[in-house]
Amino acid sequence: MKPFTYVVPNSLAEAAEAAAAAETIVKGAGLDVIDRMKERLLTPATVVNLLPLKDAMAGIGAEADGAVRIGALATLTQLEQHPALADRALAGLRESAAITATPLVRNRATVAGNLLQFTRCWYVRSEAHKCLHGRRGPICLAMNGDNRYHSVLGYLDCARVHPSNLAPALLALGAEYTTVQNGPDGLKQPKRRALAELFPEQPVAEANEHTLQDGEIVTAIHVPKQPAGARSWYAESREKQSFDWATTACAVRVVMDGGTITAADLVLGAVSPVPRPRPDAARLLVGEKPNDALFQKVAEAAFAGAIPLSHNAYKLPVGKAIVREALHKVTE
Ligand SMILES: Cc1cc2nc3c(=O)[nH]c(=O)nc-3n(C[C@H](O)[C@H](O)[C@H](O)COP(=O)(O)OP(=O)(O)OC[C@H]3O[C@@H](n4cnc5c(N)ncnc54)[C@H](O)[C@@H]3O)c2cc1C
Repeated sequence: MKPFTYVVPNSLAEAAEAAAAAETIVKGAGLDVIDRMKERLLTPATVVNLLPLKDAMAGIGAEADGAVRIGALATLTQLEQHPALADRALAGLRESAAITATPLVRNRATVAGNLLQFTRCWYVRSEAHKCLHGRRGPICLAMNGDNRYHSVLGYLDCARVHPSNLAPALLALGAEYTTVQNGPDGLKQPKRRALAELFPEQPVAEANEHTLQDGEIVTAIHVPKQPAGARSWYAESREKQSFDWATTACAVRVVMDGGTITAADLVLGAVSPVPRPRPDAARLLVGEKPNDALFQKVAEAAFAGAIPLSHNAYKLPVGKAIVREALHKVTE
């Protein structure tokens, strides 16, 4: 590992000032950052540890407008267990946290770190491979290589997938995020944006996994107050029972009035370089009563336009089954 300076800030202002310097990275629990540093994929001059700011940045609680504010440093275990997130409307978010990795990981991993984690693509995560996304080579090696865990949808010159469980679940709930950044007079005014803006619109090889500027720190995620009758769920496929990433994932949110679906959102995970909202598929649910024939139609629409690679065509039937599972679960 290359030597680096380690900053332990006493305040958010101190953290933002340190984070503004060149070749600096911030860390939450460091599960992803430290792994990548050990493998020499990241060689920062300075690491800013945000964990000392847990008192200010890890809380979960209601906001004045009924939204729930989730501090960026809240752990996945807190997400799963916190009473402010106990509502049925937020069941998908709890589930997406509860089935991530292992209890050991969930007790440490932070919400912001989960959303901002680097792709698991084995080519970019191996220094030896001359991969385009890693700025080490001219092409995406997964396109013609071992691409069993890679994209089937919405990829361009790089077939990586976005690995976060929380991202599809939070997008389906219409979440927002707040960031701060250092300015000439200390902290600039915090910025609050739709969570969808955290992910690049054109996820090409040269784009990062997220759209944060250098030195920008996520301080919180906000889940808006859900309408009466709202419910959500998250389902995923994976090869192992635990300690594994998803091969396909689906987060859904529906609003039910009596037995009829009056609004719906559907987001796919683990099949594209960014979490993928599928509004055309979700729209098919509106005005309908839940039934399997409808869910099959929605699952087909969710994967419309998919182009599997040489080793991952299995993601289409499996992914569609996961969409149906999520829809059955959310409407049962
Ligand atoms: C065995 C194993 C299995 C796993 N399985 C899954 C899985 O199934 N699904 C899943 O979603 N995840 C999975 N993970 C990933 C895990 O959830 C993430 O690595 C973890 O959430 C990262 O959180 P962290 O706090 O350690 O982030 P860090 O490693 O500290 O940071 C990750 C990234 O986020 C940035 N960052 C962190 N906090 C902030 C902030 N507040 N503002 C700006 N930038 C920030 C860092 O600079 C870095 O780029 C697994 C991990 C392991 C080890």
